[in-house]
Amino acid sequence: MEHSWNNDLDGGSVTDSEKIDDIDDIDTLESFSVVSTSSTDVQREDAVERNGTAIQKDGELWLDDGTVVIVANGAVAYRVYKGTLGSVSPVFRDLMADPNLKDSELMDGVPVVRVDDAPENLRHFLNFLAQPRFDTIHPMSTFPLSYASLAAVGRIGRKYQVESAVHAVTSRLLRFFAPPPTLWVDSTRSWYDRWQWWKEQNALEIQVDDAIDAVNLIRLLDEPAALPFALYLCSLCDPVQLRDGIVQEDGSIARLSDEDFGRCVRGSLFIAQASHGILQYAIGSMKQGRCQRLRVCTPVLVDYMSRAHAAGMVAESYPLSDVFVRLNFRNPEPDAYALYSGQLCSWCKEELCSWSVTAARDIFLKLSRMFDVESDTLVGRSAF
Ligand SMILES: [Zn+2]
Repeated sequence: MEHSWNNDLDGGSVTDSEKIDDIDDIDTLESFSVVSTSSTDVQREDAVERNGTAIQKDGELWLDDGTVVIVANGAVAYRVYKGTLGSVSPVFRDLMADPNLKDSELMDGVPVVRVDDAPENLRHFLNFLAQPRFDTIHPMSTFPLSYASLAAVGRIGRKYQVESAVHAVTSRLLRFFAPPPTLWVDSTRSWYDRWQWWKEQNALEIQVDDAIDAVNLIRLLDEPAALPFALYLCSLCDPVQLRDGIVQEDGSIARLSDEDFGRCVRGSLFIAQASHGILQYAIGSMKQGRCQRLRVCTPVLVDYMSRAHAAGMVAESYPLSDVFVRLNFRNPEPDAYALYSGQLCSWCKEELCSWSVTAARDIFLKLSRMFDVESDTLVGRSAF
């Protein structure tokens, strides 16, 4: 018996409204047919010749223990796993389930299914089924991944020494957890918008509290460059969550080591303290080199904003996540900035915000040292 699939587009392609749900529907469509021929058409075990043309075994897609051979256009044969192919295609599943298949054409003792697709097209398709696709984890890939899947591939890959998988996971982790200079701190977005944007840039589905597991994974994979940012994210987590850990997909709990837990608690305290100092640092650093109305701006900075900030410092608190955010993108803005920045000229306001970014870089460096995982990935210079 010969099984052929005629998918000639001119013969009437299957449209979205003509989805094939099972093999019974197939015979009603003109788009293809399952053709039976007499057993004299094809001799068992000598099917490598047909119509005078030798069938070539594909150089790559010929798996020695494959359980079905797909012959494309009578020219190229691919040996793949029946179960894998059937799991994604009800049509192939039914073709391969034909009880007569094992009694008809064989190659190397394996049943043959003939289709009339172009070999090149079929190779592209089968490649997605038969070849490891760890390259979809590549850091520049836009193939969306959940953090859970990334972590699982990283851990399983390391355990079974799948170097290509570990390399891909490591590269993608580093891209996300070790942002290039200025990218994270200088971004002109609120923390929430930046977090969302950064996840989209990396095509990674991840929550802030996944950082707890990520710290352990990064340590397992020995990629210290990714630690400061991951520990910083942990410092933003709820303290109880940080202490008790996060339940994973498999029911296990990801929990920080005592040492990393201590780092994150100290990090939270440091961030809270540093957040208060940023506005004062920015005011004290002002040069006002481009200001055209010093008589107005200087008193606003020194007499009003600085004093108001000092007076409110005891009671005012800021979201920890805003420590690396420019003053004008914080939510909420520090009270003194919100009250008086509108009275500054545009140059002074921009310079003040720019100094807050410089302060943020210094804070990140100090935070990295506090974590005992020094990083210079975010070092930069002020434009003023
Ligand atoms: Zn000014």
